[in-house]
This record gives sequence, structure tokens and C-alpha cells, in this order.
Amino acid sequence: MADTHSVKILMTRFITHDVKQFVVSRPEGFTFEPGQGVELAIDAPGWADKGRPFTPTNLPEDDVLEFTIKGYADHEGGVTRKLHKLEAGAKLLMSNPFGTIKYQGPGVFIAGGAGITPFLAIFRQRAKTVDVDKNVLLFSNKTPADVICERELRHYLGEHCILTCTAEAGTGYLNRRIDKAVLAETIDRFDQHFYLCGPKKFMEAITAALKDLGARPQSLVFEK
Ligand SMILES: Cc1cc2nc3c(=O)[nH]c(=O)nc-3n(C[C@H](O)[C@H](O)[C@H](O)COP(=O)(O)OP(=O)(O)OC[C@H]3O[C@@H](n4cnc5c(N)ncnc54)[C@H](O)[C@@H]3O)c2cc1C
Repeated sequence: MADTHSVKILMTRFITHDVKQFVVSRPEGFTFEPGQGVELAIDAPGWADKGRPFTPTNLPEDDVLEFTIKGYADHEGGVTRKLHKLEAGAKLLMSNPFGTIKYQGPGVFIAGGAGITPFLAIFRQRAKTVDVDKNVLLFSNKTPADVICERELRHYLGEHCILTCTAEAGTGYLNRRIDKAVLAETIDRFDQHFYLCGPKKFMEAITAALKDLGARPQSLVFEK
């Protein structure tokens, strides 16, 4: 990893059944823009060369860094599985920040699962200004138990926080996949910014649907 920083885990806690928050020391002079990612590797024999991308989810001015990481217990030899077993005191290697997702003005944020992390960072920053609730969030999950930071997102966005659960129905959740029909029903204008983050197939389907509905390719913000 180029320009690697050594950082220490200060605290971990589960925030859903399979997502953990990691509070990590912040290197002197390190900064990032909300929405950017970094590469993290575990600083232990056999792991230091296994860097994976993650997104700081706190505010750039905080004294520490925070990551919100979904663990995949079925990823034999996977970094997230190992990360979830680490405790305070463990060391990580962290790259400088990179990435193209950043806030460009009010718009519609469309996330799938752990794809919410760059948007969490952006909403937390926008919450310090007046315009956070001018944005709309469409956030797709399998079940209500999978929704990351649900109360916080509903608090920021109110009725503009639309949560869909595809595998389990529940009061307050749309029991549908985010497709062209859902986009047409929930979005009133397609000449605005669209911020997209999620698994590859999700991104492909949403991008195609948005273009069909008239969104301009240059108004789509996603990790390239
Ligand atoms: C820019 C960017 C930012 C990101 N930010 C975040 C973030 O903030 N939080 C977050 O949670 N995620 C984030 N991700 C996703 C995160 O990077 C991946 O979840 C992570 O890299 C997975 O690493 P892993 O080592 O656990 O699994 P992998 O590297 O995918 O795989 C590890 C091992 O598991 C096996 N494996 C893979 N898939 C399966 C499967 N379905 N079943 C069984 N075995 C399997 C593989 O064969 C491999 O041996 C981000 C991704 C990007 C691109």
C-alpha cells in the first residue's frame, strides 16, 4: 500500500447483527472528504498485504476515525471476518483516501446494504448545515434487522428516508426491490444529482433504470 499509515483500533461494537463500528486512531495530518474510501489491512503476519477498501463514516474534523464494516462470516480467509474478531489495541495499516463520491448538492441517494457508508459520512456532515433534509435516501436491505443506523438516517431525512426490505415485510419499510417502477413512484425529478453505492448488480440495474427515466449520466455520482 502506498503512503501507509499505522493506526490502532480503540473500540469496536456491533451496530447490527453483522456490522461493527470500529473507532480507530487518527494519524497526525490525515484528512479525507466525506464519501472517500481508504484501504485497510490488518497489521499481522499473513494479513498486511490483504488491503480492502472501506469508508471513514465520521466527520473529517473528529480526533479519531470511525469505520462501519459488515463482516462476512462465510468468507473463508476474508479480511472482514478477521477484522470482526479484532479487539481494541490491534493495529491496522491504512492508505491515503481516494474516491470520487462526494457531495455535489441536494439529490437522491440510492444505497444497497453496506453501500450506505459513504452516504453516512456525507449525511453526518450535511446534518451540521441546513440542507440535510433536502436530500432523499432510498436504502435497500434484505430485512429490517440489516438496516445500518436506521434511527439516525430517519432523524436526518424524515419522510425522505425510504427503506426497502426485499426479504421481509415490516411496518415502515417498502417490501419491494428498488427498480424502475419504485424510482418512478418515489422521485419527482430526474434532472438532479443521483448518488449511487452498492453491490455491482445493484449499481448496474439502478443506473440503467435512472437513465431510462431521464437522469443525465453526468449527474450520477458513484465510485468509478
Ligand atoms: C470504495 C469502497 C468502499 C467500501 N467501504 C465499505 C465500508 O465502509 N464498509 C463495508 O462494510 N464495506 C465496504 N466496502 C466493501 C468491502 O470492501 C468488502 O466487503 C470487503 O473488501 C470484503 O473483503 P473480504 O476479505 O471479507 O472478502 P473478499 O475479499 O470478497 O473475499 C475473501 C474470501 O472469501 C471468499 N468469498 C467471497 N465471496 C464469498 C461468498 N459469497 N461465499 C463464500 N465465500 C466467499 C473469497 O473466495 C475469498 O477467499 C467498500 C468497497 C469499496 C469498493
